[in-house]
Amino acid sequence: MKFDIKKMIRKECSGFQPYVAGRPVETIKRELGLKNVYKLASNENPLGPSKLAKAAVRKAAEKMFFYPDSNSWELRKAISEKFKVKPENVIAGCGSDEIIEILGRLFFNPGDEVVVSQHAFIRYKMSGDLMGAKVVEVPMDAFLHDLDAMLAAVTPRTKAVFIANPNNPTGTYNTKSEVDVFLKGIASRFPVNPPIVVFDEAYYEFAREEKDYPESLDYLKRYPNLIILRTFSKIYGLAGLRIGYGFANEAVADYFDRVRPPFNVNLVAQAAAVASLADVSQVTRSVKLVKQGKKYLYAELKKLDIPYVETAGNFILVGVEPHKGEDVFKSLLKKGLIVRAMDEYDLPFHVRVSIGKPAENRLFIKALKDIMETI
Ligand code: PMP
Repeated sequence: MKFDIKKMIRKECSGFQPYVAGRPVETIKRELGLKNVYKLASNENPLGPSKLAKAAVRKAAEKMFFYPDSNSWELRKAISEKFKVKPENVIAGCGSDEIIEILGRLFFNPGDEVVVSQHAFIRYKMSGDLMGAKVVEVPMDAFLHDLDAMLAAVTPRTKAVFIANPNNPTGTYNTKSEVDVFLKGIASRFPVNPPIVVFDEAYYEFAREEKDYPESLDYLKRYPNLIILRTFSKIYGLAGLRIGYGFANEAVADYFDRVRPPFNVNLVAQAAAVASLADVSQVTRSVKLVKQGKKYLYAELKKLDIPYVETAGNFILVGVEPHKGEDVFKSLLKKGLIVRAMDEYDLPFHVRVSIGKPAENRLFIKALKDIMETI
């Protein structure tokens, strides 16, 4: 039998590259024979989840022979109460990653345009590429989404504009004034059939500490084309359970629910997420840890004369020129520190490091110093 897979799959899939995920601790221990390995690669919360979430997981484990509530009702209710929106405005998915992909399935026809920023979180481009949409990449301005240029790149064929605020991997954020101008600009240029505008706020809880960070929910009533994405993976420490959520106009959320897979948020994740929302102190502690870590890392990087981009998230983009980011990544790996090289983000001379616990941050600085001096 001659089976040519290339002739079978959709043409959009043939050159498709997988998402580059942070390497797991156990894999590196096994591959490199290391005893101590620290992962600072996927912007997780090193303090872990709330105690309430852990208790909810243990309880939910007893019920895992049931399918979950396919509509995530308790979760939607909890989110809607916390953020003062209607449950009908809440969407949920197996990570905000899945939500991004479902939005592509819902909105993009082949040839539709999708506006993203250079160095933006790569899942937007993947979502467009997968559906055969034309992904228009707009240059950044000093590692920041250039909202004026993105607005100018929107045409009547544009179905969506994706804005990560703050952006991963650059860590930069757009201010309320910039967002105001952008949303008004879209509305005035496209009073009829505007593109959807997706604000991905995976790092919202860290970023809202920043000056003039926009409260995007305030825009939701005025702009029915707005979709806001959040996640339980970052500050809530539930990355392993895969659960993300978002806010959208009721009509958008309704269609989102029609096309998403049934039971897309698992039963244990739903329970953990509901419990997490009730634990304000876990969020406060995590914000504090990141603030302190950031201060320490900025100061040490400055001392070493290593450039970095100021971040509103729980990670820092670090410039390692003249070394290649990939080489620094590999050298750090040998010392038991997992970070991320940034080649697929078109940043071959950078690495991205997640802000860890104080001891992890110290290890990172020490290892980076050694490496920058020796490779
Ligand atoms: N958006 C951004 C900006 C991210 O950095 C991430 C995590 N890498 C995600 C979305 C996806 O998060 P999750 O699927 O874990 O909710």
